[in-house]
Amino acid sequence: MTCCNSSHWPRRRFLVQVGAGLAGWGLLHGAPARAHGAPASAHGTEALLLTCMDYRLTDDVARYMAGRGMAEKYDHVILAGASLGVFMADYPAWAQTFWDHVDVAIRLHAINSVIILDHRDCGAYKLAHGAAHAENRAEETRLHAATLHKLRDAIAARHAALKVETLLMALDGSVEAV
Ligand SMILES: [Zn+2]
Repeated sequence: MTCCNSSHWPRRRFLVQVGAGLAGWGLLHGAPARAHGAPASAHGTEALLLTCMDYRLTDDVARYMAGRGMAEKYDHVILAGASLGVFMADYPAWAQTFWDHVDVAIRLHAINSVIILDHRDCGAYKLAHGAAHAENRAEETRLHAATLHKLRDAIAARHAALKVETLLMALDGSVEAV
């Protein structure tokens, strides 16, 4: 079976073009440029955050990160299902998108961690596992933990230096480690 690897050459060319563009914006070779004069962190961006696209929780996600003292200190990738999005059989391009963003976040901002933040009552998980699982809190937690840990292990295999957090947000915005 052929797969996405057949397009290595065009993809490389694309990255070269993107790299040239980023250099032109002052985003390569040194501290990230700041569009509105705010001081850049001496450490660059600390983390890459992966969340679901669910509109109900966008404000809770920003509040949670600010509560950790990380406002404007993280890159943010959004895939429906968060961790599950990287393993969507129907949307294999999402995995490549995620890994590409991890690579760019390392190159541009020297991130040292990835925060994977799933959430309860997730529509993507309902599509994959049936809606009933979300009625059973323990079963819902188990399914999220399995996928979060699968992605944590995959990140460790590719980027051993990155610390990985696996988190689950409830609809009230509270977050637990799983
Ligand atoms: Zn979701």
